[in-house]
Amino acid sequence: MTSEMTGPVPNKGVLDIERYEPGKSKAPAGVTLHKLSSNETPLGASPRARAAITAAAAHPELYPDGQATALKQAIAEVHGLNPANILCGNGSDELLGLLCQTYLAEGDEAIHTEHGFLVYKIQIMARGATPVVAPETDARADVEAILGLVSPRTKMVFLANPNNPTGTYLPFDEVRRLQAGLPRHVLLVLDAAYAEYVRRNDYSAGIELVSQSGNVVMTRTFSKIHGLAALRIGWLYGPEAVIDAMDRVRGPFNLNALAIAAGAEAVRDRAFVDAAVEHNSHWLEWVTGELTALGLTVTPSVGNFVLVHFPDTTGKGAAEADAFLTQRGFILRRVAGYGFPNALRMTIGSEEANRGVVSALAEFLGAATR
Ligand SMILES: *Cc1c(COP(=O)(O)O)cnc(C)c1O
Repeated sequence: MTSEMTGPVPNKGVLDIERYEPGKSKAPAGVTLHKLSSNETPLGASPRARAAITAAAAHPELYPDGQATALKQAIAEVHGLNPANILCGNGSDELLGLLCQTYLAEGDEAIHTEHGFLVYKIQIMARGATPVVAPETDARADVEAILGLVSPRTKMVFLANPNNPTGTYLPFDEVRRLQAGLPRHVLLVLDAAYAEYVRRNDYSAGIELVSQSGNVVMTRTFSKIHGLAALRIGWLYGPEAVIDAMDRVRGPFNLNALAIAAGAEAVRDRAFVDAAVEHNSHWLEWVTGELTALGLTVTPSVGNFVLVHFPDTTGKGAAEADAFLTQRGFILRRVAGYGFPNALRMTIGSEEANRGVVSALAEFLGAATR
């Protein structure tokens, strides 16, 4: 066939991409919806951020500040960074895509882990590059496995730390070991979307490693603990050479004015963030304990979600549990696409939602064992 007959042909790899399926958000009519499928916070956004949205909404006719200066400044102040090392994005998803656009071409390879965040694979393939999957050990990234897959074609390594959907993390000395083992031209991407939630002395989001190395970047998001998922705000901390390259590729107004204003207020509202961490730590422990007591296996999580594994017995699997919970308004996330066909990912929700899921699952399992 000639191309005249087939029509426009997408780039190599594009049609091999499996679409990203967002978390479901529909409950049956008549029951209260508890959306626990997208790791959104049950606490909403900071009142300061909401006020900033209202104020910024007064002038939709004006282009936003293409440099997102106010947001970069706020992030830099709160985290003690140089604004020249920060790039903001339309969600960290955009930054992950920009990284691939800037550094990957056909024939290149990029490594991600077995149960890693699906956006990496999608963005690698969109460049016609090859995703290389590093096996995990006990649902945790394995530094040796990653380093063993580095080839002359490797350009990037993606590591979500903590990872979604497993909730597991790599201690900082392991991350350092990973960086130390990579060739200098390979870019290590530390996706720290859940960093604020982690309460472990041996964890670091990676700021110091970025500062000390020329080949590490860290991405962060306002979609999780800051409760601003609807506005799409992410940021990247990296060496100036990386920021400069990505800055040339990005859209000139990639953040909207509401996002810039709200993000700047949200990152400064430390009390709001602290309260969200408190809520999460308490209920993460409670949910993990209760589900374990029901006989379910829960992968130990440091994020704002848990990966719950169901028995293999007929009628008690993840698909049946999902249907049972959905009927009662509790929407969790199927994670078969992540290599967990018999597990559900549950976002830590409000007290009401957490208690509701635990009672519903007790009923589900009890009914099934009788
Ligand atoms: C939720 C999430 C993000 C955030 O994406 P945004 O585009 O900023 O909303 C990034 N990485 C991981 C691993 C996530 O789970």
